Amino acid sequence: MSSARIVVVGTGYVGLTTGACLASLGHRVTCVDVDEAKVARLSAGRVDILEPGLAELVGRGLAARRLSFVVGAREAVATADAVFLCVPTPMGAGGSADLRAVEAVTDEIRDTVPSGCALVTKSTVPVGTARRIRALLGRADVPVVSNPEFLREGTAVADFLGPDRIVVGSDDEAAARRVADLYEQLSAPVVVTDAASAELVKYAANCFLAMKLSYVNAVAELCERLGADIEAVTEGMGHDRRIGRSFLKPGPGWGGSCLPKDTAAMVRFAEAAGYDFTMLTAAISENLAQRERVLAKIAGAVGGNLSGARVGVLGLAFKAGTDDLRDSPALAVASALFAHGAEVTAYDPAVGGELPGMIVVDDPYQVAKGADVVVLLTEWNEFRRLDWAYMAELMVGDTVVDTRNLLDPHTVLDAGLIWQGIGRPHAR
Ligand code: NAD
Repeated sequence: MSSARIVVVGTGYVGLTTGACLASLGHRVTCVDVDEAKVARLSAGRVDILEPGLAELVGRGLAARRLSFVVGAREAVATADAVFLCVPTPMGAGGSADLRAVEAVTDEIRDTVPSGCALVTKSTVPVGTARRIRALLGRADVPVVSNPEFLREGTAVADFLGPDRIVVGSDDEAAARRVADLYEQLSAPVVVTDAASAELVKYAANCFLAMKLSYVNAVAELCERLGADIEAVTEGMGHDRRIGRSFLKPGPGWGGSCLPKDTAAMVRFAEAAGYDFTMLTAAISENLAQRERVLAKIAGAVGGNLSGARVGVLGLAFKAGTDDLRDSPALAVASALFAHGAEVTAYDPAVGGELPGMIVVDDPYQVAKGADVVVLLTEWNEFRRLDWAYMAELMVGDTVVDTRNLLDPHTVLDAGLIWQGIGRPHAR
């Protein structure tokens, strides 16, 4: 399909990236949202989220009239060849994915979606959702296709245009192939399968990554107890191509807008299928334990009691390169510090404004001022380049807890401070 008419519903990280990138591939794209103010800003070329290259692509799409933004899907879909659902599927009751937005859009377009148009789920949806949408839609002439998205926040455009793979699944194979053809300019392996398998690929991949991180955090804990160094251990592991080097870094626990909700949802739909996914529940418990261990480490650095301690926090976003705070482990640790009675001052290069339980400052040195301990929680590269001697001068205490193993311990040590990482010997 060289130039298709596409409607993208939801203009968040996934929807806006999908819309702008598909327009850049030559398709005519209408992006829909329920948020009128957002639609107005986007129509004026204003992109609120931090994603390299996205504002430029939106600007180019608007200028070429290949991209437009509207409120409401009902009319927008009337002439579409494909409708992509990119609406939220947050954690709902008991951990299951909340499909209300997906169902609301399906309901909204039921009478207006044209015959033969593919209804594509790009949102992460549990296995069986394609079937559920088909039943709700009640339109045998509208194929439902699962096309999970694997982009990462912070590199969304590059990931979308250079994906490791494209997965499309439908019980109507011809429809799945038509959706795959929309990406024909991208040179990526394409997996065409049935709807249930495509839906499962996304959870199987995300949950694997979460388990990998929990595993590394557990090995890091063992390193601390046994006197080994996680940096050496993971380097030694990562050269093994069966393991790979990515997702092998310990941290304050995994989080973000996807892994916590996707792991919880997979546990739930496994349970509904009669399978107790203990490996995954263990990874989730390990993640909570990691957060507690980080808190204990910070408490240890201030003599064991966080109450009244002044803690300087570097980093709030769930990872470097994004301004997304959803389910951020950094934010969770900062909030827990406050809950334990600490006075928290925090800095993040991409996060401003007010947050409950902490003072957010716009200068990293302000977090060190009067701090009993400084805690690094997000792996922003700019933290490496801080003047640590100046940080030491501003601090009252003498310890830096580096939960990302980001800093060079010797730099911190040379500044007269103690460096504590995760799974590594302390530098003092
Ligand atoms: P988001 O919260 O950033 O954006 C969702 C958008 O949908 C918002 O603009 C919201 O106003 C809009 N919306 C909500 N209900 C709507 C409705 N009924 N009609 C029209 N618009 C509506 O969400 P996101 O991070 O882009 O995630 C969307 C989906 O993609 C989720 O299922 C998520 O799991 C999946 N996903 C996310 C990522 C990621 O890194 N963020 C990666 C892969 C997959």
